[in-house]
Amino acid sequence: MALPVEIAEIVGEAREWEGRGWFPPGPQLAVCLSGGKESLKDLTDGELLEVAAARRQTSWAQARELAAIAELAGRRAVGGSEDDPRVLTSHESVTDEVAAALTVTGNAAATLVRLAERLAVELPGTREALEAGRIDLAKARVICDVTESLPADAAERLETAALEKAPAQTSGQLRRRITRMARHLAPEAVEERKRDAVRGRRLEVWDNSSGTANLALCDLPLEDAHAVYNKISAAARGLKHEGDARSLGILRVELAPRLLSGAELPDAARALLVEEPGAAEELSAPQVDDDVAVPALAAMVERRLAHVRARVSLDALPVAVRRAAQRIHDELAERRDAVCQGDDEEHGRPGYRPPAALRREVEERHGTCVFPSCNQPSRRCDLDHTISWRPGPTCRCNLAPLCRRHHRLKQSPGWSLFQIWPGLLIWTTPAGAWYIVRPDRT
Ligand SMILES: [Zn+2]
Ligand SMILES: [Zn+2]
Repeated sequence: MALPVEIAEIVGEAREWEGRGWFPPGPQLAVCLSGGKESLKDLTDGELLEVAAARRQTSWAQARELAAIAELAGRRAVGGSEDDPRVLTSHESVTDEVAAALTVTGNAAATLVRLAERLAVELPGTREALEAGRIDLAKARVICDVTESLPADAAERLETAALEKAPAQTSGQLRRRITRMARHLAPEAVEERKRDAVRGRRLEVWDNSSGTANLALCDLPLEDAHAVYNKISAAARGLKHEGDARSLGILRVELAPRLLSGAELPDAARALLVEEPGAAEELSAPQVDDDVAVPALAAMVERRLAHVRARVSLDALPVAVRRAAQRIHDELAERRDAVCQGDDEEHGRPGYRPPAALRREVEERHGTCVFPSCNQPSRRCDLDHTISWRPGPTCRCNLAPLCRRHHRLKQSPGWSLFQIWPGLLIWTTPAGAWYIVRPDRT
């Protein structure tokens, strides 16, 4: 290529870096940047910055790359076999062609092809600005991203407005400014795009080379993401209030994985996180009457366990459900003492065998074995201590009829049975399901 006179002069000069600022990106600037005689060590600080600013040459090269991709995609689209289900669409096929040629993943290639096509057709101003080095690829991507799925006229106005300030803004400043404008220009389209994105919400984990990993909840609705963040922050402040000297940032990151893994939380944090009233609080003082207490407690159990099921993975579900049932049982301990014990010192009758009157009461309460599908009459069942005798009391709150088979099922791995209130039982299964068994008459 023949060089223009002024370039030839500069390349031939000893101080060939001087006065380079005015060169537009392209072949001329490439010649200048190639240096020739001098190494970077010989340059002044100002000259080094000038070379660094020559990233406009990179922008130019990237614009050329994208133009070539768009040209190729355009050629493949002509006479493509879009309706034949046996083969890829021309768009998919050119994406693979680009992926193989540039050695990038399919996703990266798809993003490039999409960007190339939009710059070629819908965003000519952005393409020109990139080619002229007024903006870099990151800013071109921002403009492409924010105008995506806007109506054509809104996209055009947004592009014009974006390019006015883009050269002097960082890509972050640019994104914030034009995202605001997009909401103003085309509120419905922005809302629709948000709904689309939320449909693709997901939990992602990726490993870092430092031996750590990142965990991210992606594409949650903005208000949900901030609600979770605020809640964790509130719990972290609770801990600080209790005298924890660590920073809020550290406390947040201590709490979040424990919440997600279902580990026990410090009381100060738990108190701030639990929305549901505890089991004991479900019962107001007069509600110790079983007719009122049992339905209220059964509804509470259903709600709390459903709450657990909605929040844990399938793997963690059996353990989480069992723990939640255990917790409900434990929370009600004092109330059971109060309702069974009256003024006695001891809760329950002395000895392992229930007295006849107590036996009759329990058999009347449940006419059959308390396994949900079992019809074995309670007269022919054992009266099982739900919690084995000592520590479990011989009391109406800890006795229930079980046939032989379901007595053995109760001991089998993965199964458990809780009696949270006299006659109100919860079975939990190896799969993390639960069954609530009430007294027959309620
Ligand atoms: Zn009792
Ligand atoms: Zn049974």
